[in-house]
Formats: sequence, C-alpha cells, structure tokens
Amino acid sequence: MTTADMASKPSPHVVVIGAGFGGLACVRAFRDANVDVTLVDRHNFHTFQPLLYQVATAGLNAADVAYPVRGILRRSQRAKFQLGMVTAVDTVAKNLTLDNGSVMPWDWLVVAAGATTNHFGVPGAAEFGLSLYTLEDATALRNHVLTRFEESASGANDDGALTFVVVGGGATGVEIAGALAELVDKVLRKDFPDLDVSCVKIILLEGQDRLLGPFAPKLSSHAVETLRSRSVDVRLNTPLSRVAEDHVVLGDGTILLTRTVVWAAGVKANALGALLGVELGRGGRIPIRPDLRLIEHDHVLAIGDIAAIDYNGRLAPQVAQVAIQSGRHAAETILAVEAGGATTPFAYKDKGSMATIGRNAAVAEFPNGLKLSGFIGWLSWLGLHILTMLGFRNRASVILNWAWNYVTWDRGPRLIFRKN
Ligand SMILES: Cc1cc2nc3c(=O)[nH]c(=O)nc-3n(C[C@H](O)[C@H](O)[C@H](O)COP(=O)(O)OP(=O)(O)OC[C@H]3O[C@@H](n4cnc5c(N)ncnc54)[C@H](O)[C@@H]3O)c2cc1C
Repeated sequence: MTTADMASKPSPHVVVIGAGFGGLACVRAFRDANVDVTLVDRHNFHTFQPLLYQVATAGLNAADVAYPVRGILRRSQRAKFQLGMVTAVDTVAKNLTLDNGSVMPWDWLVVAAGATTNHFGVPGAAEFGLSLYTLEDATALRNHVLTRFEESASGANDDGALTFVVVGGGATGVEIAGALAELVDKVLRKDFPDLDVSCVKIILLEGQDRLLGPFAPKLSSHAVETLRSRSVDVRLNTPLSRVAEDHVVLGDGTILLTRTVVWAAGVKANALGALLGVELGRGGRIPIRPDLRLIEHDHVLAIGDIAAIDYNGRLAPQVAQVAIQSGRHAAETILAVEAGGATTPFAYKDKGSMATIGRNAAVAEFPNGLKLSGFIGWLSWLGLHILTMLGFRNRASVILNWAWNYVTWDRGPRLIFRKN
C-alpha cells in the first residue's frame, strides 16, 4: 500500500487500556501516524511505580510520582484520554464498556492494564497485608506506619505495635525495608523523643535462601549485609504461613506479634485479562503471538505486565523496560497490518536491573556483566530514575526532595491523611 493509499483510508480507532509504562509508550509511538487513539485509564494520572516505596516511607510527595495523563497527551492532536474503569470487552462486536455504562467502539485494542498483588492464597494476606501497587496503596502504607508511631507515643502501645514485617525479598521488599529503617532511625527517632525506638523491629522475610533472586549472588549478599548493618532483621529461608490482624505465623509455627505486614511477595496479572474470553497463562498473563497479538484475536494486542511475553524461551520479567519496548512494538504491529505489510516478532532487549537498599546503597547489574554496588550503584540508580521520570516539574521536585533529605536527614511529607 502506498503512502497516498494509507492517507486516503479512514483512520482506524485504536483504544489502549492503561496509562502505565506500556500504554503510554504505545500511544506515543503513534504520534505521526494516521490513526485515532483513545487512552483509557481508571486514574487520570500515570503512576511511576518504581518510586512508590518512597511515598510510602515519606521520602517523596504523592504528586512527585504521578503525572496527569491529559498533560502528557496535550501535544498529540489525535490522541484522547477517557477516564474510566473497563468492566467488559466484546471482542466480536469490537467494543468495551466502562464503569459508567458507556460503550466505546474500537478497531484495534491494546491491553496494557498491568499487574497487581499476588497473595498466593496465604490465609489473611489479602485481608491484613498492605500492598504497594498504586498511589493509594503508598499513602495508605505511609498513614499506617506513621499512625503506629502516633498511637505508641500516646500510650496505646502493645506488643508488636512497632514491629514492621515486610514479606518478600525481591526489589520492592528490599527497598521498603531499607527505607523504613532509615525513616525510623534518622527521622522518627527525633520526632518521638519520648518513645524508645530501640523497641522498633523491621523484619524482612524471604522464603528462598537469598534476597534479590534475579541478581548475582554477590549482590544479594551485599543487600543482606547492608540491611543487617541498618538494623533490619533479614530472615532467609523463612516462609510465611498465615497473617492475622495482630500477628503472623511463620512456616515453622513461630508467631511474630505485629500490626503491620507489608506484602511485597508476588505479582499476578491484572484481572482484566479475564474479560477477553481467552484461556490465561501462568500468573493470569495473556498468551500472545510473537507480534503481540492475541492468539485468538487478530485486532487485540497485549503488552507489559499483563502479557505472557516470551524472552529467550521464558516469560519476560514484569518490569518497566519490557512494558515500554512492547508498547512501542504493539504500535508497529498495528501500523504494519494497516499498511498491508508483514509484522515482526517482538524481541525484548534487557538493559539491566537495579534495586536500592537505602542511602548510598544500591545494586545494579547490566547485560555486559558489569555489576555495581554501594555508592556508585546508588548514584546510577538515582540518575536512571530521574531520567526515566515524566515531566520537568516531577523531576525537579524529586531532585529537590532527595537533596533535602540527603543534606538534612529529614523527610518532608510524613503526613497522615484521615477521612475524618
Ligand atoms: C512497587 C513497585 C516497584 C517497581 N519497581 C520497578 C523498578 O524499579 N524497575 C522496573 O523496571 N520496574 C519496576 N516495577 C514494575 C513496573 O512498574 C511495571 O513492570 C510496569 O509498570 C508495567 O507497566 P504496564 O504498562 O504493563 O502496567 P502499569 O504501569 O501497571 O499500568 C497499568 C495501568 O492500567 C490501568 N488499569 C488497570 N486496570 C484497569 C481497568 N480495568 N480499566 C482502566 N484502567 C485500568 C492502571 O490504572 C494503570 O495505570 C515496580 C512495580 C511496583 C509495583
């Protein structure tokens, strides 16, 4: 098909569900194309999930890690935003339904609804565990932690009130445990001079024999040593069997009194996949062809955390780079089909992994074998996060907050939001 033919064709309507890393990358890749795009999300903002733990531990403001979608699309003439929760998808009639009852037709559908917490059926985990997937989760966790200190200061103290159990020794668990330790030691110790903060316990539980499983063993050991040196009680080979309101039960029957269980143990695909009427794969991920289209539907694609993307014969990790690269590729697939050409298989290019353990400490590993840890790792972690954030205002605010925190050892946004 010639460019003139394409221009004279009616423009297809592409609907993208999810304004996360994948959905935004997809929409942006259509910038100069002859397509109309509608981006649908249940929030009117994009959330920068890698820094949610900093909101939860009062290092950053909620607005620092969120960016209004309409602001992102302002310069795109042909991309629109629709606020709403997708509650049904009809892949035969080619439309979707939003929670306000409105029906939106599409020629192409890109499903980029991300993932959510996986409690692995552990009794009580969904009811009493605090997750960290959305901005609401992050502020709820911050409220909860700070409230524990306020209650303890006013005498309403009991065993376990100041015991914080973090479940899961992946990047999120390590980041939260490290940041909580710093918040307590450097900030809350001064905020609550009458409270004996030596009774505060931060316990990190990991079922396997090391933290940060996907990283090299020496970086895992570095993470354990650093956390322990910062008073985090790291317990390896320690599965959790039950969570209750005021305690947890470990695999060997040990009971730990606690009122705070941060659930950082697992990920499963967003339940939206179940609306597509296809058989889902491991972790609820949507099976796809190499060009990211669904096996059963030529005009539906899945990208990012919700898609069962192949990476060297295994499932690709649920990380931002996979979402971004697959988002761009989804746009290429749609444009190739619209132009009457052949599609190409998606190939994820690993750019490396990073996790921070706290001030001056992070680990980073790159595909060329380069491994960084300590201060250098931390500087590269800071730089990468600043570069990948959206919006000048957010970047400036994050830099300012981090500089303030670093120089003063203080945390500005340690606010408790209450409904009454
Ligand atoms: C705490 C945390 C820390 C992380 N840290 C890192 C890190 O350091 N590095 C890294 O690479 N990755 C990290 N990740 C993973 C990374 O954030 C994800 O891989 C990435 O966000 C996936 O992008 P996505 O576009 O698939 O989904 P998301 O970014 O999750 O976006 C999904 C979007 O879909 C919307 N949505 C969901 N359901 C509906 C519905 N029914 N209707 C309408 N809209 C809907 C959501 O509101 C959301 O905006 C982290 C994740 C978390 C939770």
